Amino acid sequence: TDQRVFNFSAGPAALPLSVLKEVQDEMLCLPGAGCSLLEMSHRNKIFIDILHDAENGIRSLLNISDDYAVLFLQGGAALQFSMIPANLAKDTGKKANYITTGTWGKKAVNEGKKECDFEVVYDAADSNYNHVPSADQYNISDDAAYLYYCSNETIHGVQFADEPTVPSSVPLISDASSDFLCRPLDISKYGLMYACAQKNAGPAGVTVAVMRKDLLERGSATLPGYMQYKNHAEADSEWNTPPTFAIYVLGKVARWLQQDIGGLAAMEKINREKSQLLYDAIDNNSGFYKGHAVTEARSLMNVTFNLPSDELLAKFVDEAGQHELSALKGHRSVGGIRASIYNAMPTEGAQALASFMNDFASKNG
Ligand code: PMP
Repeated sequence: TDQRVFNFSAGPAALPLSVLKEVQDEMLCLPGAGCSLLEMSHRNKIFIDILHDAENGIRSLLNISDDYAVLFLQGGAALQFSMIPANLAKDTGKKANYITTGTWGKKAVNEGKKECDFEVVYDAADSNYNHVPSADQYNISDDAAYLYYCSNETIHGVQFADEPTVPSSVPLISDASSDFLCRPLDISKYGLMYACAQKNAGPAGVTVAVMRKDLLERGSATLPGYMQYKNHAEADSEWNTPPTFAIYVLGKVARWLQQDIGGLAAMEKINREKSQLLYDAIDNNSGFYKGHAVTEARSLMNVTFNLPSDELLAKFVDEAGQHELSALKGHRSVGGIRASIYNAMPTEGAQALASFMNDFASKNG
């Protein structure tokens, strides 16, 4: 482990070291099982208990009531771009409404359009996705099938501080892939919240969907079986073989959050401290760094900024690497730097990056 660096990858991303160690300890033989989890049937009682444990971990962290199903799905977050409109809007005679504040919202729109009637009620493209709208900037009809938004745009580093406002008749749907479990939320505001695990909750391979149970009924039986939420809910996420290893690790991350961190309020406090260190480094170096997101929409998870020139950007990435600060290059569509500081990034990592940024600016500014 002494070769591990501070890993700012946007995803798959850093996992808590204690979780990795537990996985390592149990890799060859899961206690009481006589084999590795990787070798075990998904119908084995030991695995079913692990699956329920992971579900209960998420339920208790987010205070999720029995009115909601918690599903473990495959196909990444990307399959949700299609499953949501196919189940919840197609053939309802209603329009799906979307707010787009970045690349992932836009991709959801492009896939959604294939499935149902559609309206983008707000699109932040003109400002290269640097902000989120306020409630008076969009209009949602009482009759919309749902309102979809992405709570944290991973590439642009833009996060909603609060949920968009919707009429009570309209289910709110959120892609929380890159800010799932980063702070407490009132799940009762949502019809459906989903997140791929590989940023804040576990390894790639599983997507968690938290869905109000009455919405399960909306999906047409003519959809492919895998695409129907109801099938997954009725089969306890075992309609087909689920991603057993990813669910197992996700359960351990949930336990780490509860027991080692102390729950989501404690996690939010740490996330605010970490992100503040980096935003201070952006703001307090005489304009050397230029943040992408406007202040009110700055993400707790993905901190995006640029440098005065491409040469300095390349130098920054190179020298950061020599300081064991890795995976900082921004996504090609925005450029610059992206520091992803998900739950598992320790405060020391954010401190190390902030002090590197201050040094780099004073030497090169
Ligand atoms: N939504 C968001 C917010 C994301 O960050 C990502 C992945 N970067 C996706 C969706 C797509 O996830 P996947 O690759 O699991 O389909």
